Parts: sequence; C-alpha cells; structure tokens
Amino acid sequence: MPEGDSLHRAARRLQALVGERVEVESPHPQAAVKRLPERLSGRRPEGVEAVGKNLLLRFEGGLVLRSHLRMRGRWQLRPRNGGRGAGRPWLVLRGAKQEAVLWNGPVLELQGRGVRRLGPDVLAASPDFDAMLVRLRETDQRREVGDALLDQRLVAGIGNAWKAEALWRAGLSPWRKLGDTGDDELRSALREAARGMRASVEGRRERKGTYRRAGRRCPRCGTPILSRGQGDDNRIAYWCPSCQT
Ligand SMILES: [Zn+2]
Repeated sequence: MPEGDSLHRAARRLQALVGERVEVESPHPQAAVKRLPERLSGRRPEGVEAVGKNLLLRFEGGLVLRSHLRMRGRWQLRPRNGGRGAGRPWLVLRGAKQEAVLWNGPVLELQGRGVRRLGPDVLAASPDFDAMLVRLRETDQRREVGDALLDQRLVAGIGNAWKAEALWRAGLSPWRKLGDTGDDELRSALREAARGMRASVEGRRERKGTYRRAGRRCPRCGTPILSRGQGDDNRIAYWCPSCQT
C-alpha cells in the first residue's frame, strides 16, 4: 500500500519534468478512454505535489491530473524511451531526456474534481491541525478514532501503518469513540502521525511500536500487542491494550 510518504518520494522524482513540454501516451486501454494524450500533449507540467494519498500534476492552462495509487499503482522515472515493449503503462509523460511512467493507476482523472473533497494533508509543510480537528468533529462522533483517521475526507495521507503508530505514541486506543476523545488527544495523535511520516519522508527510520507486531511485546510496557479488523474496509488495527486507553 503506497502511503503518503512514498507518494512524496514519487512527487520528488517527477519534479524532473516540471517546465518541460511533454509528449503524452496512454498505452493501457483502461487509461486510453480518458483521452489524456489529446488533452495534455504539448503542455508543460508546472508543479507536482503529493496531497494525502493523491499525486497531483498541475499543467499549464489550469489542468490538474490526479492519480491515486491505491494498492499497486506506481510512478516511475526512467530515461526517455527507456522501456519500449515492456508492459503497458497507464500513462507516459515524455520529456526531452526522461519520462514519467504510471503503472497500474486505478484512479486517474483530469482537473481538480475529488481533490477538494480531501481533508487537510497531514504531510503539508505546516499541517493544519485545527482544520483536521474541525473535520473530525463534523463527522459522526460515534465513529472510532482508528476508523476516522483513515477517512481521507477528514485527514488526507494517513495509512494503516501510521494510524497504528500515531495512536500508540499518543496512548490512544483505536477503538475509542470520537465523542469520548478530547481535542487535545486527537491533536496529539495527528501530531504524531505528521511527525512520524515526515521522518519517514526524510529517510529516518524509527522503531515500530505496534504495526504488524501482533502477539509481540509492547516496547513501552511489555504487554502483548493485539490486532483486529476495523472499519468498513476491515483494515487491521494494532494496539497495546495496556497503554492505549
Ligand atoms: Zn503498552
């Protein structure tokens, strides 16, 4: 699962094409129906950024190409014509020397639709924790904190691993109802998510607390870590039953 931090790395790679006139191809039939080559060829990308789990490529003329990588999508940067005949990518943006290639891009759309529905980006240069808090309070307060943190309309960018780690660091159980959780507690979890993900983007590795550590001991208190599916998508929550309340 590409999480927010791997998307930021992809965004950095794609910076190489900013300002160049690109040739556009969409070899994959599912992408071909979107007629992106007709609409984008010859335009210059003006910027590329990761917003939550979305990668946004802004083109001159106000067009924004949004890709969401879901489970298997991947943006690759390679030398121009570097992979002739090797599979059918969704999209190729070809510059003078390099080309950006999107593989398995289940969500690919032009313009800004969908982007506005996303919550504030946890990986923004200065994350807007107040705005995240407002969204977390606007949703049904019977929802569990661990479920709400994965809802990209409330906070964009937190994936399952960082949800687990942020809640563990904040000492907050993923099963607590939003309505039973204080603003300061939510803010603390959001800060931990932002801090940990930022560290990961910058290549600093931190010891994991609970993620994929079910049955092993909590590094803080020694209690065995538990795991169970949570939310509509049944994503696995990991938590320490002693120090996350
Ligand atoms: Zn513990």
